[in-house]
Amino acid sequence: VTYQNTSNIGLLKKNNNHGATHAHNAKQLIGDALRQRVENIDHEFCEPGDEDTFFVADLGEVYRQQLRWKMNLPRVKPFYAVKCNPDPKVIRLLAELGNGFDCASKAEIEQVLDMGVDPSRIIYAQPCKTNSYVRYVASKGVRQMTFDNADELRKIAKLYPDAELFLRILTDDSSSLCRLSLKFGASLDTTDSLLGLARELNLNVVGVSFHVGSGASDPVAFLKAVQDAYAVFNQANAHGYSLRTLDVGGGFCSDPTFEGMAKVLREALDEYFPPHLGVSLIAEPGRYFVSSVFTIACNVIARRTVEDPQQVGNADPSYMLYVNDGLYGNFSSIMFDHQNPVAKVLTSNSRFLYDTDGANAAANAANGTEYSIWGPTCDGIDRITESIRFQQKLDVGDWLYFEDMGAYTSCSATRFNGFTDNHDVIYVCSEPGARALLNMH
Ligand code: PLP
Repeated sequence: VTYQNTSNIGLLKKNNNHGATHAHNAKQLIGDALRQRVENIDHEFCEPGDEDTFFVADLGEVYRQQLRWKMNLPRVKPFYAVKCNPDPKVIRLLAELGNGFDCASKAEIEQVLDMGVDPSRIIYAQPCKTNSYVRYVASKGVRQMTFDNADELRKIAKLYPDAELFLRILTDDSSSLCRLSLKFGASLDTTDSLLGLARELNLNVVGVSFHVGSGASDPVAFLKAVQDAYAVFNQANAHGYSLRTLDVGGGFCSDPTFEGMAKVLREALDEYFPPHLGVSLIAEPGRYFVSSVFTIACNVIARRTVEDPQQVGNADPSYMLYVNDGLYGNFSSIMFDHQNPVAKVLTSNSRFLYDTDGANAAANAANGTEYSIWGPTCDGIDRITESIRFQQKLDVGDWLYFEDMGAYTSCSATRFNGFTDNHDVIYVCSEPGARALLNMH
């Protein structure tokens, strides 16, 4: 398959139907998939692995996020950050929808190229690249890449002098969950000399990029970064470069803060990079596209009753639940991405309790039995939840589920203690338009 460098946004508009009913239907689909899988497991006699953790991914959510992006940032073309979740179906749908891809390594670039995506739709957005990877992208015609220091410029001059370079600048990322500027980005007092060196080395600088930090919460960071990028565009001009692209990076959340963030960015772009300047605008969203797409289900493999020594025989002790996934697995997001996934009850005493409208969660929050939730490895750090209350009594064999588990989860899972890092994904699709693009029925 070869994906054309065009967007299928026409399809997207035609097929989209918004609103609460829609969200309910999407939940229904996810719930049905969870139920079917769990009900098909013979918990008494199943083989090792049969009751493993699994994901349900609603690809319709990717599609809705695309539409939401188009509505809020119509001038900015997304280059999905593959590192966030390299799920092949997500990538395929994003390709069908006309997006580009931000890749950080040879493997990511290979994955996207192997799907038939044109090299011009990839940016190798890693300011400090491996030599052999640079030679690899040169052989494949992936030209766009970032840099932020003089040594990298010399490396590129030697290995890939035809590359199209984006100068990544430093931002104030202090409001973000994961600070990237501690590691990457040229400060504004170095950009002029870097551009001078690029000119001296006869390199092709085509744009500026920045990243306000992953999980950013302060929209002003975007305004400041756009202003800084504007200043660097002018510096580049003085060195004889006529830059043609601004890359505003990632950092967008999928929660309701997105609209506010996008508004500040949109207005800043309209002020500093108005359409008549002809500067192309791209971004590298990761979590925005996938966070809410994936729900994970985990099996309770063990339980420990915690008796209060003051109240032995207490009718309602608390419990430690041990599930078959944890911080060394798909809950790596707790460690690396500062997340707090919230457990919900999927089954209790063979009753299926998936919550299509949030009613159970609200009831559970109030009171009920107290649980802590732990992963399966030997390490005491492997704790998912310190304390949560459920109305239901949970025991070995019951299932829990966690929503919003699509970003920085499975991609950073390990095989510590011999557990698998490769879990099944059941795909559903609550958007007919996305189903059509993916030939799903
Ligand atoms: N671009 C680059 C260069 C990154 O390092 C990252 C995340 O680390 C992203 C994009 C994606 O960020 P986010 O998931 O916050 O949108």
